[in-house]
Amino acid sequence: MTSLSAAPGTATEGAATAPHAEWARPGGDLRALVAGGAAYGAASVDGACGVVARHGSQVVDLAALARATRRDLVDILAAPSLNRLLAAGRRTWQDVDAWVASAIATGAADRFCHHADEVRMLLPVDVADYVDFYASEDHATNAGKIFRPNADPLLPNWKHLPVCYHGRAGTVVVSGTPIVRPCGQRKAPRAPAPVFGPTERLDVEVELGFVVGLGSQLGDRVAARAWRDHVFGVVVVNDWSARDIQAWESAPLGPMLGKSFATSISAWVTPLDALSAAWLDPPRRDVALLDYLADPPEPSALDIRLELVVNGEVISRPRFAGMYWTAAQQLAHLTANGASLRTGDLYASGTISGPTPGERGCLLELTWGGEQPLALAENRALSYLDDGDEVVIRASAPGPAGSVVTLGEVAGSIEPARW
Ligand code: MN
Repeated sequence: MTSLSAAPGTATEGAATAPHAEWARPGGDLRALVAGGAAYGAASVDGACGVVARHGSQVVDLAALARATRRDLVDILAAPSLNRLLAAGRRTWQDVDAWVASAIATGAADRFCHHADEVRMLLPVDVADYVDFYASEDHATNAGKIFRPNADPLLPNWKHLPVCYHGRAGTVVVSGTPIVRPCGQRKAPRAPAPVFGPTERLDVEVELGFVVGLGSQLGDRVAARAWRDHVFGVVVVNDWSARDIQAWESAPLGPMLGKSFATSISAWVTPLDALSAAWLDPPRRDVALLDYLADPPEPSALDIRLELVVNGEVISRPRFAGMYWTAAQQLAHLTANGASLRTGDLYASGTISGPTPGERGCLLELTWGGEQPLALAENRALSYLDDGDEVVIRASAPGPAGSVVTLGEVAGSIEPARW
C-alpha cells in the first residue's frame, strides 16, 4: 500500500499557500477580487435563468444588470447558457468583461449580487461536440505500461499528432450532479467469457476543457495561431471512466461506454483573457512537427495547478504546464481535415499527469491499475471509487500582480448502480 505522506517532494509543494482561500471567503470585497477577472456561468436566480459572473464568493446576475445598464446585451445574457455570449465572438467577450469590471468597481453591480449559496448553477454551456485528447506524455506512458505491459507504452503516432476520441456531448453534466455507477460488459483477462454488471473499476480523470465560442466554416482549417479567436475559456473536467468496461471494449476503435455515461465540468468558465499572467512556453518536443501543428508565436501553454480530492483528502496535485500538446495545437488538429467548429464545442486535454506519483491525474495511475491502493483516513484503502465517494477537482493559476485566479471546481459523488 502506498502512503500518501510518502509522495515525492514536488507533489506537496504549494500545499501551504491555500490557493483556494478566496473562493471560500464569505461575503468578500468585490472590488478587491476584480483584479483576477470574472468567471462566467449560467444560473437560476430567483427562478429566472441567466448568465452570471463570479468574483470571489459573489455572483453577479448579468441579465438583470444588463436590463438596468446595457439593454443591448440583454439578448445574449438573459439565456439559460453561455452559448449566445460565446457565439458573439471575442470583441463582445472583451466588451462584457470590461463592463462587468466597471460595474463592480463603481458599485453599479452591487444590487445585482447574490451570495454563491443563493443561486443554483446550471450546465454553463449547451455542449455541441465533445472531444477528449490524450496530451500528457506521463499519462500516456503510464496508461500504456498498465494496459499493454509487453509493448512500447507510446504508440508510433503519439508524438506526431494529438491523439483524441469523440466523446458523448449529451452526457456532459455540471459540477454537483450525482454520478450513477455505470453497468457494462467486462471480461477479466483470464475469464472464459464476459459478464454484465456494475463497473468494479470506476475512476476519475483530472482534466481541463476548452470551450469554443466562435465556430468555423465546413471545409476551412483553423490555424493554431488563430485559436484565441475561437476559444472562449476553460472549464475543469472530470472524465469519469469505467476501466474494466473500457479495457474490454476499446480494441480496435477506442473508448466508448466506459466513458460516455457522464463527464462532469465546472459550473464556471474562466475566460482565457482572465489567464493573462499564466501563459508559458510549451515544452520541448522530441520530434519535428508538421507545419500545421507549429506552436503559435505567443506562449500557448498554461500554468494551471490542480488538486484531486477524494472524500476531503488531496490525493494528487497535477500540473497542466507540462502537457506535451497545447490547446492551440489541438484546435488546429481538430479542424485539419476541414471539420467545422460549432459554438459550444468542448475539447478536453486528456488526463493531466506529471512525472512523479503525486502528480498523477487518475486512480489507474495512482494505484497502478488497482494493485497499489492509496491509504486514506479511517483505514480506507482506495483503489477505485466506492458508492458514496465524493470527488472534487480544484484548479488555480497565477493572476496579475501576485494574485491567484481560482477556476471553478468540479465535484461529483457516486451513487449505486441501477440494475
Ligand atoms: Mn480523458
